[in-house]
Amino acid sequence: MPAVRALMGGPAERVVEALLPGLCPCCGQPMGGAERGLCGGCQAVLVPLRGAACPRCGAPADSGEEPCVECRRAPPPQLGAVVWGEHADTLRAALLALKHGRRDELARPLGSRLAAVVAAAGWADAVELVTWVPSHPLRRLARPWCAAELLAREVARGLARPARRLLVRRGLGRQAGRTRARRLLLSASSFRVRRIRGTPTVLLVDDVTTTGTTLQRAAAALTAAGARAVFVACLARTPDPRSMT
Ligand SMILES: [Zn+2]
Ligand SMILES: [Zn+2]
Repeated sequence: MPAVRALMGGPAERVVEALLPGLCPCCGQPMGGAERGLCGGCQAVLVPLRGAACPRCGAPADSGEEPCVECRRAPPPQLGAVVWGEHADTLRAALLALKHGRRDELARPLGSRLAAVVAAAGWADAVELVTWVPSHPLRRLARPWCAAELLAREVARGLARPARRLLVRRGLGRQAGRTRARRLLLSASSFRVRRIRGTPTVLLVDDVTTTGTTLQRAAAALTAAGARAVFVACLARTPDPRSMT
């Protein structure tokens, strides 16, 4: 079983465990009868981000009331953003299991947490439909599902709004023969909008963000295709390198 052997070691062991029913994908412990997705112990240590965040981009900020310096200097295409937690420890392990193990029941405890912060945002009522940042075409070859989509569908359920596949990443085939610099530029910017009816207010969901650039590009594509407004919700943010010592 070379495929399984290749996965063994470190966090990948948890990925293998994530494929086994009845074990918590984060800690590997057997789950109780009523537990779904994550064991009670792991659910208990999932904590949301603390501290103020910029309401426009979701980045850590001095005030949660006003846009951060960066957003005032160059306003991003989305009108608001929420981020639930830090991409570390149990949340990181849970997302890894969701990405690799396709445990749909894991999308529920994670997606419901994200739905709760969206519901608390002042703009939640304006959202008419929910979509997600699609995974890269090469990744989809290995895994036909996408963590962002599973989360978006849970958020849509929590908000009682429809979930629609609106965005497509441009395939690599279109990039053949281009220079490396051009390919990089395209891979960073290559979203197209599949179909969009009317001028809806859209909530764009992703699983992990680092700089927010991908979300901004996807939000810009939606706006260019006719969305009246775009808001953003992301489950996890990679730790700010400036805060690490
Ligand atoms: Zn656990
Ligand atoms: Zn900001």
